[in-house]
Amino acid sequence: MTDIWSKEKRSAVMARIKSKNTKPELTVRHFLFSRGYRYRIHVTRLPGTPDIVLKKYRVVIFVHGCFWHGHSLDGNLPHTNVQFWADKIERNKERDYENKRILVSMGWKVIVIWECQLKSKAKAQTLNSLEFLLNKSFLDDRRLLSANAYGLQHPEGEEGSMAAEEPVEYGK
Ligand SMILES: [Zn+2]
Repeated sequence: MTDIWSKEKRSAVMARIKSKNTKPELTVRHFLFSRGYRYRIHVTRLPGTPDIVLKKYRVVIFVHGCFWHGHSLDGNLPHTNVQFWADKIERNKERDYENKRILVSMGWKVIVIWECQLKSKAKAQTLNSLEFLLNKSFLDDRRLLSANAYGLQHPEGEEGSMAAEEPVEYGK
């Protein structure tokens, strides 16, 4: 089977997928802004240059393209240069993992939102989950502070993850 695009066109398409200010990214930013959250974008001094940083909530958000970051739920590879893309995606995944690990060790909560979680059917649930996680992070931090004041032990740091995927019908 051959690729529907030429090699050059495919490279151009992939480069665009990787770029900043993608439509899914803008969806998340517009939602946050409309809900009153203020944030910085593309913070280069943090590992992996997070797409969105909410300092007050100690949360960084990555909005990942499913292809580029190797979302295993999608996992479609182009039909040409398969090994090339597979290697590239594998490297991206390793780098994502390492960046996440460092950010968590710095005390950030890391939220990854996948492009497919912002498609029409899943979008509302994803954004609601995001808002829930932000507020949970905010409250957890303050609980830690007051716990420290009484000399209690730190609960384990907990890392945010998004619950929303494509809607599932139960009972079938
Ligand atoms: Zn996906």
